[in-house]
Amino acid sequence: MSLRPALCQTTSKLTALTTAVALAIAPLSAARAQQERGPPTLRDTEAEQLLREYTRPVLRAAGLEKQNIQIVIINDGSFNAFVADGRRIFVNYGAMMQSETPNQIIGVLAHETGHLAGGHLAKMREQLAQAQTQMIIAMLLGAGAMIAGSRGGNSNSGLANAGAAAVAGPQEMIRRTLISYVRQQEENADRAGVKFLTATGQSAKGMYDTFKRFTNESLFAARGADPYLQSHPMPAERVAALEELARSSPYWDKKDDPALQLRHDMVRAKISAFMERQDTVYRRYPMSNDSLPSRYAHAITTYLHGDLRSALAQIDGLIQLQPNNPYFYELRGQALLEGGKPAEAIVPLRKAVALSNNAPLIEMLLGQALVATDNKAVTDEAIAILRSAVVREPEAPLGYMQLAMAYGRKGDYAQADLASAQAAFLRGDNKTARELASRAKTRFAIGTPGWVKADDIVAAKPLPGQSSN
Ligand SMILES: [Zn+2]
Repeated sequence: MSLRPALCQTTSKLTALTTAVALAIAPLSAARAQQERGPPTLRDTEAEQLLREYTRPVLRAAGLEKQNIQIVIINDGSFNAFVADGRRIFVNYGAMMQSETPNQIIGVLAHETGHLAGGHLAKMREQLAQAQTQMIIAMLLGAGAMIAGSRGGNSNSGLANAGAAAVAGPQEMIRRTLISYVRQQEENADRAGVKFLTATGQSAKGMYDTFKRFTNESLFAARGADPYLQSHPMPAERVAALEELARSSPYWDKKDDPALQLRHDMVRAKISAFMERQDTVYRRYPMSNDSLPSRYAHAITTYLHGDLRSALAQIDGLIQLQPNNPYFYELRGQALLEGGKPAEAIVPLRKAVALSNNAPLIEMLLGQALVATDNKAVTDEAIAILRSAVVREPEAPLGYMQLAMAYGRKGDYAQADLASAQAAFLRGDNKTARELASRAKTRFAIGTPGWVKADDIVAAKPLPGQSSN
């Protein structure tokens, strides 16, 4: 699975800590618009696997290993990372691009884990609710004073102005209280993050370097700087405290493992090649650079820009260097599939599935290739692979879309309608999902598992953040 075709809308409403902070600091309407848009996510096995490995030890040190916390990559080139619901850590791909070492992004993930472990989201909501109550009281008092002022017959009277001041005064006070509260949480998350890193034998230097960079940037950057900076005030005292803490760790000077650094560089090269303009890719990875990450970026950008034969030759060169790297076979299969050669894509995709321990997103790509061959002899195999993949990866519409095509080919229109309904539901298209599920219900015998699933979709409430029509 690549970054590009897997682009899909997340279905979740982000009531993020950052949003909470934005609510406290920015006008309400802006924060609300940000919530309703719902950021699109990137799906890629290689990148997700790496981020999972980065996060796992930290979550264990935080006592959160049993919470099944997911890492979600957001399709945004700016630097940001945040927690939204105690269940997921969101990371912009820009944060990966701006982190030159694993340790830098791990530091940011450790800080976010500090927010999770501290239950900051729930506490922030409490604070906001309290602030809102105070705000309402202040407004009522202010309104009362204004009415009293206008009763005096002169709207420019001192009393009316006193009313306006009564509104502005407490709001400003509440705003300051919230900001100082946010700062407290940030310091707590820093401390917790350093603790988790030290407990797992890792340096907090990367976290410090990243935050220090933001402090320096905040001196110069105008508005519209990275969202992370906006939600993470980095006063010099905070960064100084972090530095002292980080330096006291016995692991301060510990360097990243070279093998891990290489995987980090490979994922950054892949993200660059898929997400950035081609001239940017070649600026980051000039032709003269023949490192593995650079060659990876060249191979991807070559296939994306249409030269399949040259791309395949480059990918084969990569496979020669790392014959057990599942993602090179995945790339080969994807290039062939998108180049209109699905039958040839099957062999490399089978290899990618095997080498990746049956990664479900890669299985979906294999299923797609099997379906695209138009060969009825492999339809049952495609269905078996896709069914298994959607169980482990229930939020990717691609699996259900391919299942629907495979069932259609077999003439099983009940299952085809149901799978199409599931794909539409995951895309957030509830209207289509309900229509297809209703039709599927008429094709299944009442009470059968397919009928029950279709009925669930017909009756389903839209996921948070989706429109209800
Ligand atoms: Zn934070």
